[in-house]
Amino acid sequence: METSILKLLYLIDVKANYHTHSTWCDGVDTPEVIAEAAVKAGFDVLGFSSHAMIPESCYDWVVSAGNIESYMKDLRALAERFKGTLKILCGVEADYVREESAPDRALFSSYGVDYIIGSVHLVRADDGALVPVDASPESLMAGIRDHFSGNAEAFVRAYFQQEREMLSSFDFDIAGHLDLVRKFNSRHPYFDESASWYLKELELTAEAAAKAGRIVEVNTGAISRGWLDDAYPSKSFREILRSCGVKFVLNSDAHSSSALDCAFDRFADAEEYIFLP
Ligand SMILES: [Zn+2]
Ligand SMILES: [Zn+2]
Repeated sequence: METSILKLLYLIDVKANYHTHSTWCDGVDTPEVIAEAAVKAGFDVLGFSSHAMIPESCYDWVVSAGNIESYMKDLRALAERFKGTLKILCGVEADYVREESAPDRALFSSYGVDYIIGSVHLVRADDGALVPVDASPESLMAGIRDHFSGNAEAFVRAYFQQEREMLSSFDFDIAGHLDLVRKFNSRHPYFDESASWYLKELELTAEAAAKAGRIVEVNTGAISRGWLDDAYPSKSFREILRSCGVKFVLNSDAHSSSALDCAFDRFADAEEYIFLP
């Protein structure tokens, strides 16, 4: 009883978000503007997690090997300025792009990052093409048509296969938006989330996350961007993850300072969250 009361107090006392994008990648606000907004919103901990692709980068909106040192220097200076008011952590959202980049602990530790979110935004097709999962419904549908013979199930299976590859091959902290393939499925349905093959993919992926000891984020980013009225992972996926013993953090995946705690009130009690040290 005493332990659960302490735990409850801890949960109420800490307000944290570890998934934040700024002008260092595709976010609209500078780290400074975001930190000031975080203080106003009552955050205790703010983790920056710029998109990162190292060693190879196929896009210019990510932190790459060429600018990660400047990124870290900028955030460390900001952390020093807010010391005592807001704990600022310097992380990355590292893309797993098969044969190109990965959320590799040794690699990112060499730059001194505090933590790593591992995410899959691009699915490698058998013909070598990269299909963007969450860029737009149009690019997703074109990618499935041109590189998966129009077979949405094959695309979704490939997505989870590459999630599991990332989970089992690399050491990182937080698995980002684990069922990102749902992003457009509410407004532009392209596969059946109740199909038995899909549930099997969820089970296999939950087992891989548990076996690797990864924290999974409850990510409210699709709500702030108006694509879903729900978080990643879905309620049913979270139940499977929970039954495998997976732990959760609550993240907003904010791309602007106004979205820092989007729907946090709604999902605060959805899971028992843990906090990064
Ligand atoms: Zn992401
Ligand atoms: Zn993100």
